Amino acid sequence: MRAAVFRGPRDVRIENVDDPEAPADGEVVLEVLRAAICGTDASEWDHGPVLSRPGVVLGHEFVGRVAAVGERVISLGVGDRVVSGAGISCGHCRWCVGGRTNLCTEYRTLGLQVDGGLAEYATSPASICRLVPDTCDDDAAAMTQPLAVALHALSRVAQQPGDDVAVIGAGGIGSFIVAGAVSRAGGGRVVAIDLDEDRLATARALGADQTADARGRALDELLLELSDGVGFDVVVEASGAPDAPAAAIAGTRRGGRALFVGLHNGPRELDLTRTILREVDIVTTVAHVCDTDIPAALELLAATNVAAITIGPRIALDALVDDGLRPLAERRATGKIVVAP
Ligand SMILES: [Zn+2]
Ligand SMILES: [Zn+2]
Repeated sequence: MRAAVFRGPRDVRIENVDDPEAPADGEVVLEVLRAAICGTDASEWDHGPVLSRPGVVLGHEFVGRVAAVGERVISLGVGDRVVSGAGISCGHCRWCVGGRTNLCTEYRTLGLQVDGGLAEYATSPASICRLVPDTCDDDAAAMTQPLAVALHALSRVAQQPGDDVAVIGAGGIGSFIVAGAVSRAGGGRVVAIDLDEDRLATARALGADQTADARGRALDELLLELSDGVGFDVVVEASGAPDAPAAAIAGTRRGGRALFVGLHNGPRELDLTRTILREVDIVTTVAHVCDTDIPAALELLAATNVAAITIGPRIALDALVDDGLRPLAERRATGKIVVAP
C-alpha cells in the first residue's frame, strides 16, 4: 500500500510499504477514507523527530471503513465507517482505571509512535474507534480527533453556561476551541484573538461574538479592554506565543480559570502573586479521552457546520509534502487540510 513515512527532518516520503497484517485481538484494520493533518505533523516534517520516530507512518486524524476485524472485536464489523481516536492506552494503569486514558503511563499516539492513518490502510484498537453518523461526511469525520482535543480542553475548565470565554490563538486547535466554546456558551460571550485576519474571519463564522486583531497590541491590555476591565471567566491560551501565558492570567477575572493548551518552546515568566491573590486557577490539558471526547466531537460535527467552515484544501497523498506539510510549517495554510489516500 501507499503510505506517508517519516524518515527524518524535511524527509517524509510517500512509499510502497507492506499492507497491514491481519488484525490482532481487539484490533481492526481500516481502509482510510480521509486523513487530516495539523501542526504536529508539520513540525515532525520540519524539524522532527519531536514526538515521532523515524520509519513511522504519520497520520493521527483519520476516518476509515473497517476492512478486517480481529478476535474479540464485538462492537464493530467489516464495512462500518469509523473514526479512530489517536491515543492507545493500556487500560489497567491507575490513570486508565480512573478514566484519564490520555495520561496513561504507556500512552502511544497513532501516527507518531505507532503507524497511523496517512496511508491506504491503518490498524487501530477497536476500543478507540467510534461509528460515524450518516449525517457526518468523510471530510467532517476526519476532523473528529482535533475537535476532540479542543473539547477535552474545554472540559478541563468546566465551562459553565454564561461564562465569558476568550481564546488566544484561533489556529488549528484554537478554532475548534472557539467552536466548542460557542456550542456551550449558554449566553456567555466567546471572543477570539489572533494575528491573522483569515483566522479571525473563521472564528466569526464559527459563532465568536467578537474577534480582535492582536497585531501591535499588548495582549494583557487587549484582554482587559475586551472585558470592560474585569477579565474573562475563562481565558484559553492556544497560541504558544511567549507573552500569552502571563497575559492569559492577567486577562482572567478574579476566581476565573486560565487554560493552557499551546505548547511553548521554553520556560515562561508568570506573576504568581497576582495569580494567587485573585485565586485564578491555572489549568492544563493534553490530547483527548477517547471514551468521552470522540463521541462529543462526532455529535458536534453532525449537528453543526463546523467542518464546512474550517475545511481547507483536499489533497492527494502524493501531494502531502508540497501541498500539505510545507505550507502548514510555513504558516501559509488556511483551513484544515484533508488528505484522500
Ligand atoms: Zn493533530
Ligand atoms: Zn494506562
